[in-house]
Amino acid sequence: MVTILWSLCGTVAIALAAVCGWLWLIERRDRASLMLCVLGVAAASSGWVELGFLHAATPAEYGAWHRWHQAPIFLGFMAVMVFAHDYLGTGRVWLLWTIVSMRSTVLVLNFLFPVSFNFVSIERLESMSVLGEDISIVGAAVLRPHWQMFALASLFLMIAYLIDAAARRWRKGGPDARRKALAVILGIALPLLSTIVFTHLVLFGVVRAPLSNLPWFLGALVVMVHELGRDVILARRARLELMELREQLAQAERVSVLGQLASALAHELIQPLTATAANVGAARMELESEEPDLKELRAILDDVERDDSRAVDIITRMSRFSRRHAIDMQPLALEDLVQDVISLIQSEAINNHAVLALVMQPGLPRVLGDRVHLSQVLLNLLVNSIHAVESRPIDARDIVIEARVDDAKGEVELAVRDSGPGIPDNLVDEVFKPLFTTKSNGMGMGLALSRTIVEAHGGRLWTDRTSQQDGAIFRFTLKWAS
Ligand code: ADP
Repeated sequence: MVTILWSLCGTVAIALAAVCGWLWLIERRDRASLMLCVLGVAAASSGWVELGFLHAATPAEYGAWHRWHQAPIFLGFMAVMVFAHDYLGTGRVWLLWTIVSMRSTVLVLNFLFPVSFNFVSIERLESMSVLGEDISIVGAAVLRPHWQMFALASLFLMIAYLIDAAARRWRKGGPDARRKALAVILGIALPLLSTIVFTHLVLFGVVRAPLSNLPWFLGALVVMVHELGRDVILARRARLELMELREQLAQAERVSVLGQLASALAHELIQPLTATAANVGAARMELESEEPDLKELRAILDDVERDDSRAVDIITRMSRFSRRHAIDMQPLALEDLVQDVISLIQSEAINNHAVLALVMQPGLPRVLGDRVHLSQVLLNLLVNSIHAVESRPIDARDIVIEARVDDAKGEVELAVRDSGPGIPDNLVDEVFKPLFTTKSNGMGMGLALSRTIVEAHGGRLWTDRTSQQDGAIFRFTLKWAS
């Protein structure tokens, strides 16, 4: 039964170590996962070594296995301490280093001393029955009492470190701090204290029982994995909420940009509607004549149809742009996307006497992206450029949209260049920060959101500092759709 139980615990420890190791491989900065992986490996190897000495037939065999016990114990202790240090964030560093040095000394001496750190010699083994299985325990042995006190001191320092760090965390206040402090006290410090007391009662022959660190290691591992799992779930929830908020913010910003374009778009809408009204009047006059000219009427109807579809087109584009929408990654033809955005911005550009030019490299590959979000990026850059050139004379308000392929990187690079005042050197990084604006009615979210959107597409958005003398240049890259 002992063999089955120990093997089972070892398997659980290895499985937890594998999961934590995998989590660490995904996020290398997450040292807590690495420490839990190390603790899992330490717990499993501790169980394996313990099975070795619990089944030893001679004192020499027991001693050989027991000597190796210090290696997983050292690993496990270090993993627990570093985990608690990171997890609570309030431990005293000098105390941690003292513990590390003391436990390293124990480990080195263990392999220098004959038999092991604890035993000078093992005289006799005894057999006892635990859970229906006969196992070996030390019957008579010579200990190293002074060194044993040294090891005991290191263990009490570990407990002092944990209690001190937990108390400092507790004092920080708030339910999260208290829960973390309690988890460390109840899940790590108290079980460690009971194991220390138990081990020393066994070593000094007060209690007849097998030596084992596996239950404590495994218990601490389960408590710590539970805490880590909780953090992972909370982080995931926070990420989902962040994505939702970001989408809401992006939509709010799209509506705000449309608001800035409202008068130009209304003007663009009035044109086809006025033309339709005029055409309907002309048709009515034609119908009232003695011999209505059917050819003329057909031409009028064609005009009405064309104006109507133009109006519908403007409204469709506006509503598609302002609707709330879930991200939909599709292969996109950049020419269409750019034309779409230009048709939304054209009237605003004309009203502001800005001349829009397009320099598109022929045969651009499709890019993978969300149509609405990428239109938002381009529209933001163009609206900013139109505002920027307003300070220039009417005949010097130029905006150029460029697109070229970067074969080596498998990217398309788009640039929006304008003849405005450019961006002062000291503001080059500032303009991408949320809420930074120099406009009286600006939200300061356009560039920040645009950068987030481009980065979510695996690209980069930056302002080209090399040629700022003549206005601003914003560039962004997008990956080809494979
Ligand atoms: P908003 O347009 O609401 O101010 P943005 O994030 O789009 O927010 O822009 C932030 C700031 O960056 C603008 O207020 C402006 O000072 C500066 N900026 C953006 N584009 C240009 C440009 N093309 N030329 C000069 N300054 C610009």
